Formats: sequence, C-alpha cells, structure tokens
Amino acid sequence: MSTQATNTPDVLVIGGGTGGYATALRAASLGLGVVLVERDKVGGTCLHRGCIPSKAMLHAAELVDGIAEARERWGVKATLDSVDWAALVATRDDIVARNHKGVEAHLAHAGVRVVRGRARLTGPRTVRVEGALTDSAPGAPDRSAPGVHDFTARRGIVLATGSHPRTLPGLVPDGRRVVTSDDALFAPGLPASVLVLGGGAIGVEYASFHRSMGAEVTLVEAAERIVPLEDADVSRHLTRGLKKRGIDVQAGARLLDADVLENGVRARVRTARGETRTVEAERLLVAVGRAPVTEGLGLAAAGLTTDGRGFVVPADWKRLETAVPGIHVVGDLLPPPSLGLAHASFAEALLVAETLAGLPSAPVDYAAVPRVTYSAPQTASVGLSEAEARARGRAVDVDTMPLTAVAKGMVHGQGGMVKVVAEAGGGQVLGVHLVGPHVSEMIAESQLIVGWDAEPSDVARHVHAHPTLSEAVGEVFLTLAGRGLHQQ
Ligand SMILES: Cc1cc2nc3c(=O)[nH]c(=O)nc-3n(C[C@H](O)[C@H](O)[C@H](O)COP(=O)(O)OP(=O)(O)OC[C@H]3O[C@@H](n4cnc5c(N)ncnc54)[C@H](O)[C@@H]3O)c2cc1C
Repeated sequence: MSTQATNTPDVLVIGGGTGGYATALRAASLGLGVVLVERDKVGGTCLHRGCIPSKAMLHAAELVDGIAEARERWGVKATLDSVDWAALVATRDDIVARNHKGVEAHLAHAGVRVVRGRARLTGPRTVRVEGALTDSAPGAPDRSAPGVHDFTARRGIVLATGSHPRTLPGLVPDGRRVVTSDDALFAPGLPASVLVLGGGAIGVEYASFHRSMGAEVTLVEAAERIVPLEDADVSRHLTRGLKKRGIDVQAGARLLDADVLENGVRARVRTARGETRTVEAERLLVAVGRAPVTEGLGLAAAGLTTDGRGFVVPADWKRLETAVPGIHVVGDLLPPPSLGLAHASFAEALLVAETLAGLPSAPVDYAAVPRVTYSAPQTASVGLSEAEARARGRAVDVDTMPLTAVAKGMVHGQGGMVKVVAEAGGGQVLGVHLVGPHVSEMIAESQLIVGWDAEPSDVARHVHAHPTLSEAVGEVFLTLAGRGLHQQ
C-alpha cells in the first residue's frame, strides 16, 4: 500500500470506471503511487448507468415473468398486482450505492489518491485537472477548492475515459420521449409502449425488460439479425424467444424518421420486406452503440490522435501502450478486438498495471472473453461463431442441442440451445454458444474450455451434475468426443 500526496505519482489514471479504477487498484497493490482522476463518480458507466442498474432491473423483470409462469404452468394462483417503479428504483439504487461505497473503500484501502475533477493531457507525461476538486489525499491542503492542479506522472498515464451513448443523425434524445439507455434509468415511470432502436445487447436487454413490465415493444435492428456479432443460431433462438414473449422483432429494418409528439413518438420504419410501417410508442429508446469519450482530453498535446471512429488505438496491443511511450489505454476507449465490456476492461487494467510495474504481462486473449445478453431468454457465448471459424478456413465439427432435451430444460420450459464449434476430427474447441435461462452463469466453464484450448475429449472426461441445464453442455461435448448418451 502506498499513499502519495505529491503531484508526481508513478501512475496517473484518467477516468474512474471499471477500466480506470481497476488499473489504479492493481498498480497500487504492486507498490506504485497512483492518482486516479474522476470527473463524476468512481465506478463509471458500468456501476452507475450500465451493467449493475440494468441487471438489477432485469432481475425484477425475471420475478415478474416468474409470476406469469407460476400461474400458467405450475398452478400457483398468483397474479401481478402492479409494479411500484419507485420501489424498484430504490432497491436498484441501493445496490448501486453500496457497490459505489465498496469501490471507494477499496481505493482508499489500496492507498490510491482519488482526485475529483476533469483531466486533460498537457504533454506526454503531464496532466491538468480542473473543476471543483475534492481530493482523497490525507492532509491535502484544500479538499474542495475549485481550481487547477498540475500532475506529472513518473512512469505512465492511463487513459480510461470510457464511452457515451451514440445516436443517429437527426435523432436528438430529449430524455423524455427520445431516450438513451442513461435516460431510461432515470425516467419518472414505466412506459406502456417502447420502440427500441438497436438490437445489440443493450437494446435487447431494454426491450426484454420493458416487455416483462407489460409494455408493447418493437425492436428495430438494421442488420439482418439481432445480436449480429453472435453466431447466427444465437440470433435465431433469441429472436424466437423474444417473439414468443410478444416483442415485435424487426431485423433488417430501418428507421426512416421519427416525429416527437406531446406524449411519445410516431416513427416510420422500413421493414426487411420493404414495407413502410408506422409505429407509435410512448418512448423511443436509442441503443445504436457507444462512442469513445475523448473530447477535451487533450490528446494532441501529448502527441496522440484517434482513429476515424474516435478510438485511441494502441501501437502495442501486448502492453496496451499508445504510440507515445508511457501512455496506455484501457476499456471502452479501445477499438475492437476489445469488446466494450466491463470484464474486458478489468483484464486490460491488470495488464496495464502489471506492465507499468515492470512485471511480465500477457496480452488479453479477447477470443476467450465471454459475451452475455441478460434478456429473457439470455445469450452467452465465447470464442468463434461457426461462420467466423469457417471464414478463417477452419474445417469444423458442430453440434447443437436444444436445452429442452435435458430434464432441467423442460422444467424451465423456455427453450434455448447449446452449440459448440470445434476443429474437425476432435480438435480444439473454437466456440461455445448458449441461449436460454441462466446461461449467463453457465458460460464460465466454456470460457475455460476455449481459453485453455481444450478438445471435446478433455471435457467429456468430466461429469456434469444431474439434473442441471449445464448437462446439455456436457452432452454436446460427449457427442463431439464420439461418446454421446442422449443424442443420436
Ligand atoms: C446499459 C448498459 C449495460 C451494460 N451492461 C454491461 C454488462 O452487463 N456487462 C459488461 O461487461 N458491460 C456492460 N456494459 C458496458 C460497460 O459498462 C463498459 O464496457 C464499461 O463501463 C467500460 O469501462 P471504462 O472504464 O472503459 O469506461 P466508463 O465506465 O465509461 O468510465 C469512464 C470514466 O471516465 C470519467 N471521465 C471521462 N472523461 C474524463 C476526464 N476528462 N477527466 C476525468 N474523468 C473522466 C467518466 O466520468 C467515467 O466515470 C454496459 C453498458 C451500458 C451502457
């Protein structure tokens, strides 16, 4: 643990989201003096506007869906009275607040000096912080003085300023009728109808949430299928599951225009069949992706630029170091193959902190990072899709099994599937793709299988508990290893 109240820390981190605070924690644990500058709250997007509040809300949605299932399938004579949005928000925000306190406590315990203010690069090793500064350093002279503080980082600077919601030209979120995922959290109530624009993970999760809460939901995605970066079978099963729940899924469709009305929006959508449909909804939720935050960061002063899309591209991916030695980058500021996911940013943070501490560090294996959509049904995958594997010239064996082929899948009664893509002839497992209930928790074994370059026969040696959903994963590996029990 090392505390440093001077303005010459070893490492200065700009941005206290998952990427930034994790870099600070690991660097401090390695004995480096760390200043972490955050203009808002440590925890960033994931904790305050992303992963955590959205998953808390999706948990409530699951409870609502459970009432319908209890009544319709299990003879439990339960009915939903109403959803008290204010109470839901209070529980959600309490979880966020407790996590926020936890992150602050970890940083304090590690001896990271947290400075509240807006940081900008003034050179390859120097940073200026402006704003109403609060400073966690013990004995800092004035703990709430507005002003300007200059820092020089002795070993390096880490850029971790994250991302913000994107929109489309001509579509200006007003926070009320045209909203982003940020606004949706802080809305005064639940809408009766929503048009969700964007069928990536965030759009699908919000479509799923609002449907559970009783809204009429239309989901519009311009690509020919929702979650277009996933395996085609994942998109197909997810689409089927969402449609079964009454969500109007329009893939290959485009928003032509949207009029903002007093109490909602009226949008024209060109469907995949070339028809023009008018959709009226209380809210238009724009979830068309996220853009890196670099405005006002002073990249040019340090000799840095962004690529055409605004990302800061590392010159060395093995160290996540930019073309300016000593300036590193983590999190949503990175272009693909980084994934715009909090857990990817944790891995990047470990890599950068260890690199700055002079430890040998291995590059992030993005192919083995799991990707999850927490809708109902959920999707979870790791590694290559079948199409990606074939496009790379790999001869593959593929096995797919519906989750309802195992007893626990029938108990859940929500459909879903397991798909495994492996090199032909019993070779390395290249990808695992899951759709169904609880698959976010089931993907963990598959990330090890893919990350450890295992083969189906390696997995088939191990026994899965019976009866579980993950038995279906085990069964697919048994089949690929030539030892299938329940698959013909
Ligand atoms: C609705 C939603 C749901 C999501 N769900 C998931 C999920 O389930 N799982 C998952 O893995 N990922 C999820 N994500 C993505 C995840 O939130 C991001 O990948 C993650 O937050 C990126 O972390 P980061 O540290 O790069 O940036 P951020 O978390 O955005 O943090 C950047 C921080 O930098 C600060 N900052 C910016 N500029 C400056 C400056 N000049 N000076 C000082 N401070 C500055 C900002 O205030 C911010 O706190 C979700 C995102 C959204 C929007």
